[in-house]
Order: sequence, then C-alpha cells, then structure tokens
Amino acid sequence: MKIISDPQKLNRLSRSISKKGRSIGLVPTMGALHEGHLRLVREAKKKCDAVIVSIFVNPIQFGPNEDFKKYPRPAAADKKLLAKEKVDILFNPSVRQMYPEDPKTFVLVEDLGDYLCGRSRPGHFKGVTTVVAKLFNIAMPHKAFFGAKDFQQQAIIRQMVKDLNMPVKIVTVPTVREADGLAISSRNKYLSKEEREQAPILYFSLKMGAQIIRSGEKNAAKVISQIKKLILSDSNFKIDYVSISDPKTFREYQKINKPALISVAAYIGKTRLIDNILVR
Ligand code: AMP
Repeated sequence: MKIISDPQKLNRLSRSISKKGRSIGLVPTMGALHEGHLRLVREAKKKCDAVIVSIFVNPIQFGPNEDFKKYPRPAAADKKLLAKEKVDILFNPSVRQMYPEDPKTFVLVEDLGDYLCGRSRPGHFKGVTTVVAKLFNIAMPHKAFFGAKDFQQQAIIRQMVKDLNMPVKIVTVPTVREADGLAISSRNKYLSKEEREQAPILYFSLKMGAQIIRSGEKNAAKVISQIKKLILSDSNFKIDYVSISDPKTFREYQKINKPALISVAAYIGKTRLIDNILVR
C-alpha cells in the first residue's frame, strides 16, 4: 500500500492509473476505521481496479463546539487495517496540505442541507461538500463510496455531483451494525459502558417506527411520538430530532403516503449519535 499525503503527488499518480485504463475507487473517511468503513473499502475493491482511501479529519465540517480536537486519530491501527484489505493507496494529508491558506471557495448544496442534521449543525454539509469536491479533484475517482448511515450526506453529495457535472459515480453502501443493532460509528468509542448498553435503543426505536408505518399508520406525528417515547423510556438520551421525511427532499411528512426516511439524532452524554431507516 502506498501512503501519500501530498495532494499533487496523489493527483499525478491517479492520472497515471487512469491513463493505463484502470478504474479508481475512492473511499473518503475521517479515520478511526471500523467495520463500516471496511465494508465501503470491500465494495470499492469489488467495483474498481485501484482503491484509494482518504483519511482526513476535516476541520471545516466541525462546528466551534464540536469534537474536532478530540476526534480519534489512531493512525497506526488505521494503516494496518487498510494494508490488510489490500488497499492500493492511503491518502492522509495534513490540514495544512488540504488548506494551505484559509479557503475562500466553498461548495454549497442549497436546501437539502437545511434539514435534519443541517439544522442542528449549521455549516456542516458545506464543509463536507467542499472537502469531498476537493478530494474528487485530487484523486479523480471513477466511483466514490459513501455509507447509508449518513443518509443525508450521500444524498447531498449525489446532488453536488449532478449539479456540477462531476465525472464520478456515487455508490451508497448499507449501514453496518453491531450484533445488537447499534450502527457502527467512530464516535461509539466515546461511549461509557452504560451509554454503550443504552445506545441500541436508537435502532430499536427506528425499527418500531418502520413497523408502525408498515402496519398502516399514516400520521407522522403519531409515529414520531412513539419513537421518542421508546427512546426516552429507558435511556439517558437527549433527542436532537426524530424526523419522518421524503428521502429525496428531506421535507417532513404529515401524512405518510410515499417511501419515508425515518431519521434520528440524539445525544447520550456528550456524544451525538445518528441513525436512519428507509421505509419503502
Ligand atoms: P466517517 O469516517 O465517519 O466520515 O465516515 C466515512 C464514510 O464511512 C462515510 O461515507 C460514512 O457514511 C461511512 N460509514 C460510517 N459508518 C458506517 C457504517 N456503520 N456503515 C456503513 N458506512 C459507514
């Protein structure tokens, strides 16, 4: 596995790979790699000739009171995991290398970023789309792989790619979960033993919500209230939002007549966890 931190060097290498007629898959991550990330890597290996994994904790997608500083950065363990997966290139630039000076140009996908996590994390998606656009320009992938766990993120990236005619295909990979249902996340490392025991209630509550909808309930407010009740019944979670929305526009339903995205964000202690489920 080649390890490259210089964006120009990666760009040169990517061009030479493409010139040889080999397809490139990019898996953008912030590191602290886990089984969820590795599923993306394996998908990329299946679909592309050469796989680049980027590890970059992107400062411009964190709010001032968020966990940028304490975000886990287990560099050696990450390298080992990627080498084991036979990843071709690890791209791990420093903040300086990605942002040599304060950027003045940003990519903003309007509207879609105003809902759900965008409402609670102003500027977050602008930071994400900007860094992903930069990574696409640097790595020039044919395909890029994102997780359904961050459903809104992959939808916003798809919109960016469409609107800006970016020559890359977005592949969305289903959420990988722990045996007890908890969506795997780098932030799960923050949880105390007790918090970790309570955390699966998020996914249980989403599954219950989906079940209620499937059994014919159309009133979104009623379903949301049941989900909230279940989460709060037996945990220390503080709910940020529970939403039932159109999976394409993220506009909230009052009446559920079409495919619905049930999504939740909640704090347990200082840790913010998100999860979602799609009801077709
Ligand atoms: P992150 O390092 O958290 O920014 O995540 C990098 C990529 O991995 C994003 O596309 C995430 O959606 C994806 N990802 C994170 N956790 C999971 C998971 N449990 N299952 C599937 N994909 C995931």
